[in-house]
Amino acid sequence: MMSRTMAEAQLPKRVDAIKLVTVSQQFNADIDSKQLTRLSEAVEDCVAPVHCEIRFERDQEKHRLLQGSCNTSVVMICQRCLGNVTIPVESSFQLGLVFDDDQAKQLPKRFEPVEVDENGQLDLWSVMEDEVLLALPMFPTHPEGDCQFKQPGSKPETTDSDDKRPNPFDVLAKLKQK
Ligand SMILES: [Zn+2]
Repeated sequence: MMSRTMAEAQLPKRVDAIKLVTVSQQFNADIDSKQLTRLSEAVEDCVAPVHCEIRFERDQEKHRLLQGSCNTSVVMICQRCLGNVTIPVESSFQLGLVFDDDQAKQLPKRFEPVEVDENGQLDLWSVMEDEVLLALPMFPTHPEGDCQFKQPGSKPETTDSDDKRPNPFDVLAKLKQK
């Protein structure tokens, strides 16, 4: 049996977005990231729930908004050493809820349009999944020093050979002195 706190901590999947705007609903809740199939396919592993802190509201110009942030951790392939690297992912967003393209075009540029269906329903999980996907790094790597990548043929822990190569900026500086 699911405990009460667990049920409350889960972000609802499908919501009446227009109604939630009228009551200025806020959520501080998680999505089980293993259930987000597009995210699961885009990364090696999902190692944390997607934590969402979001609020529905109407701004002073009467735009219907979904604002907030989400964060999670995923395992991706380091593009330098091809080993696994755990990447923290965080996204902040200001989404404008619209019914159609015409409304989307009328939104101020600072809001990203998100379409609700004709009944004002929104797949909240899918919207949050999009935000996480957009925040994934194009070129994931370990932090400097943690990476196992070694230059082929180079001796570890020495950069002497690199230092002896002419620096192109030094060459330019000498040319300018003449
Ligand atoms: Zn690496």
